[in-house]
Amino acid sequence: MNTKPRIVVLGAGYGGMMATKKLIKNLSPEEAEIVLINKHNYHYQTTWLHELAAGTINPNQVRIMISDIISPNRVRLIYDTVEAIDKDNQKVLLENSELTYDYLVVSLGYETNTFGIKGMEEHAFFIEDFQSCQLLREHIEYQFARYNVDSNADDDSLAILVGGGGFTGIEFIGELVEKIPKLCKKYDIDRGKVKIINVEAAPSILPGFDKDLVTYAKKSLQERGADIMEDTRINECTEEGFIVGDNNELIKAGTIVWTGGVKGSSILSKSGFELTKGKVTVNGDLRAPGHDNIFIIGDCAWVMDKKQGRPYPPTAQAAMQHATTCANNIKALMNQEPLEEFTFSDKGTVASLGVTDGMGSILNGMKLYGKPAAAMKKVVDDRYLFLLGGPKLLLKKGKVRPF
Ligand code: FAD
Ligand code: NAD
Repeated sequence: MNTKPRIVVLGAGYGGMMATKKLIKNLSPEEAEIVLINKHNYHYQTTWLHELAAGTINPNQVRIMISDIISPNRVRLIYDTVEAIDKDNQKVLLENSELTYDYLVVSLGYETNTFGIKGMEEHAFFIEDFQSCQLLREHIEYQFARYNVDSNADDDSLAILVGGGGFTGIEFIGELVEKIPKLCKKYDIDRGKVKIINVEAAPSILPGFDKDLVTYAKKSLQERGADIMEDTRINECTEEGFIVGDNNELIKAGTIVWTGGVKGSSILSKSGFELTKGKVTVNGDLRAPGHDNIFIIGDCAWVMDKKQGRPYPPTAQAAMQHATTCANNIKALMNQEPLEEFTFSDKGTVASLGVTDGMGSILNGMKLYGKPAAAMKKVVDDRYLFLLGGPKLLLKKGKVRPF
């Protein structure tokens, strides 16, 4: 009979993969059984999804087989979809089975938030997961492929409209300004016929971010042919495009993408957790209030920055740091020791604006622009691969090519 406590980790993204790795390190096989549950048998780098969606990266570089990183001999790997958490009976309900837990780590990531905007769910593409981005990439290419052979295809069918000028929208536009000239060449289309439009409700794209860096990003994207519409609220999405602003103007496009915001996994609400803007406001030790054996990490967690009086932004950087605190606290709980408080160590923010351009600030606020920023972004991406799978994974999937 199995008397070891069972730790169940839900979701193999940044938070779940790193929490599982840390748990393996913290606990011997005799001390606990570890189970990792994920929808697919692969982990994907969410931070590279804008590249996948634009078609500027090989899809296989973006995903990694989970069993290549985490040994199935050490961790029980279950590839299934979580449908709900039955907290009263300490059970996870999956599409095809169910499983009890002693300790639970919820790291199911984000879902796109449409804020109830009419027509958005029906007509817009989302940069949400591996498959939604494959679909978006195929759709863009299809619009170009049909342009010269389908008499119904007009210039609007080539236009790409991106709603929301946060980091996801802006990084995606950065990839598009590099990809579109290549698609034009491939399908014999005049580049001047293709509009790439970003629509942002706030007075500026990347609201709240450093002004110099935002100015740089905007200029770089505009010079490469993107239209940036700021101070323009999207009111509705139709089959034809976005309806925007006070005059309800229609902007038409053959490809409509919504990158206007994220919320925590809907499994949280289905499971009866108390939510703040779709996430669980966790205690300082990352546990769900009232549930001593449930940790919520990554984009599912609303973690307050007490100094600033607002939550930390949902990032991969934060999800990985949550993972360490969570794994340490599970060990502490098992040993009846005091739990540690989560503290965020900000390493900065760097965004790509295509393959060779970028901007951001690192460590103590040092600003980077252009090629050095693009290179730094690749270093950050590769650092994660190294932390996850060591030099072998870095050589296999890394972006910085040493030779
Ligand atoms: P995720 O990494 O999204 O993982 C969630 C996992 O759960 C996935 O494997 C998914 O398949 C699985 N899952 C979901 N639902 C279920 C279910 N019901 N059943 C089973 N499995 C399920 N942050 C940064 O710090 N730096 C960046 O440069 C950066 N760039 C980004 C670029 C883009 C385009 C986007 C969209 C985000 C970016 N972010 C960045 C934010 C970052 O990606 C997220 O904050 C991070 O992925 C959150 O990690 P997570 O573990 O909570 O979720
Ligand atoms: P976000 O919430 O950061 O940005 C959404 C944007 O959409 C906002 O600028 C908002 O004003 C705009 N918007 C919302 N409603 C609108 C409307 N009706 N009309 C027009 N515009 C509207 O979401 P995101 O960009 O998906 O980012 C999610 C998280 O991932 C953030 O924490 C971000 O920092 C992180 N991220 C980080 C990086 C990076 O570090 N390089 C890259 C991508 C994402």
